[in-house]
Amino acid sequence: MTLLSEILEYNQYFTEEKLYEDFSTSKFPDKKMVILTCMDTRLIELLHKAMNIKNGDAKVVKNAGAILTHPFGSIMRSLLIAVYELKADEVCVIGHHDCGMSALDSRQMISDMKERGIPQETLDIVTNSGIDLNKWLEGFDSVEESVAHSVNMIRNHPLLVKDVPVHGLVIDPETGKLDLVVDGYKNTK
Ligand SMILES: [Zn+2]
Repeated sequence: MTLLSEILEYNQYFTEEKLYEDFSTSKFPDKKMVILTCMDTRLIELLHKAMNIKNGDAKVVKNAGAILTHPFGSIMRSLLIAVYELKADEVCVIGHHDCGMSALDSRQMISDMKERGIPQETLDIVTNSGIDLNKWLEGFDSVEESVAHSVNMIRNHPLLVKDVPVHGLVIDPETGKLDLVVDGYKNTK
């Protein structure tokens, strides 16, 4: 059985048994917040349980590392949509210890791509089109610095109103303990 057929088979059971009824809620976050966090597997349930967030409480945006790299990329767009259209009044950026992005070596990843069959010619075309692959694929040294940097980018974004607090936190992926990096209430006007 493939993973996909396993998923679809379970899904049929899930819908037939109406297990979805436990999750009934609206698209507006009850706790009026949007979270940017990492796609790490250990955080799927742990992050929400550790913050006492249930289905319907928050909008959640995820990527590798909880990093905001571009002020006009899809992550920032999602945060703005959450604030302006979905009634999120606060933003939380939550990185975590032992993040894959803290160990990411762009040169190693490019060599892995080559090993999997991506030709050098393709890498050259991408590079010649102005993409600095090493920079694009680089991770971070300190998760606290990375979170603080993303918080700053969001807070200083020209399209975000200044009365929206932007908090920065780091979570332990084993215990769920949160450490505060930036208290957004101190920076709002
Ligand atoms: Zn991570």
